[in-house]
Amino acid sequence: MLIVMRHGATADEVQKVVSVIEEMGYQATPMPGAQRTAVGLVGNDGRVDASRLEGLPGVQEVIHVSKPYKQVSREWRPEPTVVKLAGGVTVGGTEVVAMAGPCSLETERQVLESARLVKEAGAVILRGGAWKPRSSPYSFQGLGRPGLKLLAKAREETGLLICTEAMDPDGVGWVSEMADIVQIGARNMQNFSLLKVAGRCGKPILLKRGISATIVELLLSAEYLLAEGNYDVILCERGVRSFDTMTRNLFDLTAIPVVHKLSHLPIIADPSHGTGLRDKVIPMARAAIAAGADGIMVEVHPNPEEALSDGAQTLYPDQFTQLMREVRIIAEAIGRRVAEPAAVGA
Ligand code: PEP
Ligand code: MN
Repeated sequence: MLIVMRHGATADEVQKVVSVIEEMGYQATPMPGAQRTAVGLVGNDGRVDASRLEGLPGVQEVIHVSKPYKQVSREWRPEPTVVKLAGGVTVGGTEVVAMAGPCSLETERQVLESARLVKEAGAVILRGGAWKPRSSPYSFQGLGRPGLKLLAKAREETGLLICTEAMDPDGVGWVSEMADIVQIGARNMQNFSLLKVAGRCGKPILLKRGISATIVELLLSAEYLLAEGNYDVILCERGVRSFDTMTRNLFDLTAIPVVHKLSHLPIIADPSHGTGLRDKVIPMARAAIAAGADGIMVEVHPNPEEALSDGAQTLYPDQFTQLMREVRIIAEAIGRRVAEPAAVGA
């Protein structure tokens, strides 16, 4: 439930609303906004009797949030959330961001070369996993903590921001110490205890859609993060399981306008995992930007044939460069612009 205060309501009036909500046994979050201050009420499992709140001084109206993903919903926050990253990079505003890099971090040379190449092409965020959720326990599992050191070095050398996955609570601690964005992967989208830890880590979270998750389930998982007080959440469409075997996943582009309608959170698209096929990544990345995605996440490797994971869906550096040229034009056509690496460290 949202208690919307009148324009010009005093701090004491807002405080009174907070105390009454707490007396009723719920949690209150004051949310000052440009147009109005609202006080969010959570902790209820069912409809709350609003009569005590409606009559308080300074209260304009009480809105019952109909969606189960309350704080994630547009009802809760009509204006889009803009996640602010270091160096003035934003996700969810007019800028479109490119996150790119290898599937797995492999060697120092591979990480640094990937970073230089993707930066040159126009990415502002370097991606790459130190821990990899692999279907087989015999597949390359990632470098672990030493991988994070490589990312730190790449950031130092290039000024790129870092997005990397945490697979368990210890990983959240290590990743949040060094990375700019903590990624929660598709397979962990409904690992609710991990989401609670991630929600408290103090860093922006990239939450990827689960391989068989509905959009509502994605939003409910994001709600776990917001419920812990972390509003810096970026969603990611990365394809869902389908009956068709022509592509690795069914890349659900419709999710982008659907999420934008239902939620204030930004959503980016990952056409690499979404399609699993290098030659499908470029058209779907273009389409994602055209559909309104707030960014793209693309796997790029200096030498994809030698990649230790996901080589078949990984772009060659020159393909990524070409893609970024196209993405700039598409973004401009819809009144947006691509965040340029020059902004990093500015
Ligand atoms: C990844 O981005 O490295 C990854 C493993 O993706 P997903 O969780 O979407 O499979
Ligand atoms: Mn991958």
